[in-house]
Amino acid sequence: MIGRTHATSGAVAVLAVVPLLRQHGVPVDGWSVPVAAVVGAGSAMLPDLDHPSGTIARSVGPLTTGLARAVGFCLGGHRNGTHSLLGLALFTGLGVLAADTGGITLGLYLAFLFAIASAAMHVSLVTVPVLHTVACLVVGAALTRGALFESFSPAVVPWAVGIGTTAHLVGDMATVQGCPLFWPFWKHRFNYASLSTNHFTERFVVGPALTFVAIYLVVDEVGGVDMLGPAWKAAVEVVRSVVPA
Ligand SMILES: [Zn+2]
Repeated sequence: MIGRTHATSGAVAVLAVVPLLRQHGVPVDGWSVPVAAVVGAGSAMLPDLDHPSGTIARSVGPLTTGLARAVGFCLGGHRNGTHSLLGLALFTGLGVLAADTGGITLGLYLAFLFAIASAAMHVSLVTVPVLHTVACLVVGAALTRGALFESFSPAVVPWAVGIGTTAHLVGDMATVQGCPLFWPFWKHRFNYASLSTNHFTERFVVGPALTFVAIYLVVDEVGGVDMLGPAWKAAVEVVRSVVPA
């Protein structure tokens, strides 16, 4: 699967599970909805951080290239440990740690996930890499500060990391290469379909459909449909007051 499909499927998976999380007492409202979407999209890119020459590894320059080299070295190279249940547990554990620590650590973690998600979507905030890194840090800080102002609970973060990473594994298991779920104990690669990466259906059907669903879910979960009502009415009132009868 290409990065963009992974990132959007991660966001969609997390947003689709939001009602279930709420039912089980995980607070996901207001500001935590976009945070959950960003974390879902970014986490759905984490497993591919095992390849120093990949798009994700190059997203924040030498910082991510070095990280990818270290991750690849520790977890058996490309499409091994990061694509296993062990990798899923490690990534989710880091999410728990970031959410528990909060503050700057959470901000940096969110900035990092935003950076790799935007790299996957080919959305570059600015073309100069250093400025792009700074922009990602600003977004991470904004997500954290917004969180503070809106008394956001980061409880959704570890859930979003786990769901986003799982979405990546499910996506890769639809391809010929599959995922070694029980690495390093059993290196069998599991797959349920044999699609090739970047095929026509993924690019022109699955990708756009996922993007549409992601946008719809964000608007819906934030209460957009209800919020649009009064906003629309107010706009009509303003136009009526300005336009002579
Ligand atoms: Zn992968």
